[in-house]
Amino acid sequence: MNGRLEYRFDPKRVATPSYVIDEGLLKENLEVLASVRDRAGCKVLLALKCFAMHAVFPLLAETLDGICASSPHEARLGREEFGREVHTFAAGYSEADIRDLCETSDHIVFNSFAQLDRFRPLVRELAEAAGRNIELALRINPEHSEGATPIYDPCSPGSRLGIRRAQFDADSLDGITGLHWHNLCEQDADCLERTIEAVERNFSDVLPRMKYVNFGGGHHITRPGYDVDLLVSLITRFKKKWNVEVYLEPGEAVALNAGYLVAEVLDVVQADMPVAIMDSAVPCHMPDVIEMPYRPHIVGSGEVEEKAWTCRIGGPSCLTGDVAGEYSFDHPVRTGDRLVFTDMAIYSMVKTNTFNGIQLPSMYLFKPDSDAMTLVRSFGYEDFKNRLS
Ligand SMILES: *Cc1c(COP(=O)(O)O)cnc(C)c1O
Repeated sequence: MNGRLEYRFDPKRVATPSYVIDEGLLKENLEVLASVRDRAGCKVLLALKCFAMHAVFPLLAETLDGICASSPHEARLGREEFGREVHTFAAGYSEADIRDLCETSDHIVFNSFAQLDRFRPLVRELAEAAGRNIELALRINPEHSEGATPIYDPCSPGSRLGIRRAQFDADSLDGITGLHWHNLCEQDADCLERTIEAVERNFSDVLPRMKYVNFGGGHHITRPGYDVDLLVSLITRFKKKWNVEVYLEPGEAVALNAGYLVAEVLDVVQADMPVAIMDSAVPCHMPDVIEMPYRPHIVGSGEVEEKAWTCRIGGPSCLTGDVAGEYSFDHPVRTGDRLVFTDMAIYSMVKTNTFNGIQLPSMYLFKPDSDAMTLVRSFGYEDFKNRLS
């Protein structure tokens, strides 16, 4: 059975709404990433902004080399719970951020020479005082787009992410050991190949002076059909050509298709078509459905009119756009039915909010080997209240 488009647990076993992570599916992803890591001789980090369920960090840390953080809080979570390398990048740091990061990060990546120059002395001073080795890197903008949606394309016009070649001063690299870029989003290895060509064209004078190069995230390595062989050969060739270590920092690829959101139908109302109202709010529990936007898959459903009964599925909040999409089913959906949304581990629990005071989903871990379903965390009124004054 393909556990990725179906589920292999009984959705009646969990309270709703809830996220369910299937540990077996997570392990399958880790096997793919381990093979890339071993065959290419590169390091692979988890991008915490995508998936940060720390209950499974011990499992992830068996395979992955560490994490990449987007903020002091993520860096601290990585330091305290993951326990391996911590790399941090943000488009801008305050002095307080840097003081914090010097306690938690092994690598700090800057987005401009101005930030590097401003904070290099402080990083050196704090690292020395703490007896820690902190490496500094710069994020470049490869100025090469692979056609991702503009809000997810760091190389779109006007993007503030990464230093462009015209602003890159190859004479000011004091203390810089790494180069970082990130320009892909859910893309295949041929996109990386063209990006590498662009970087080699523009930064050939800089690459030989680096100890490592970080190819960022957006590599959809664990998606069926991804060209893993090409990825491995690109990394192998790049390492040899420039004599550098290579890092990848995928988020999605680590937990792709490994999680579900289970919701219960509260009511079915009649609008222009039947509308099922569930206990999960789309803007609170799967905001990317609205932000991206996309239509998530529900197990057992088809396209509109494909199956016998078509309806719209929405949530309980005040937002008119609190709608997952329109779906068809073999039988009419009824109050009390469970809906299981697939691929809900990534960019979901890290993005939840309590708009409308909506209940946060519980988090469960399912172990297919033993058929164990463990409640990892549930939330209540205090979690809502504590985020407000
Ligand atoms: C978002 C991001 C990642 C992870 O991207 P995925 O698409 O989840 O693989 C890695 N590095 C940086 C700098 C990012 O902004």
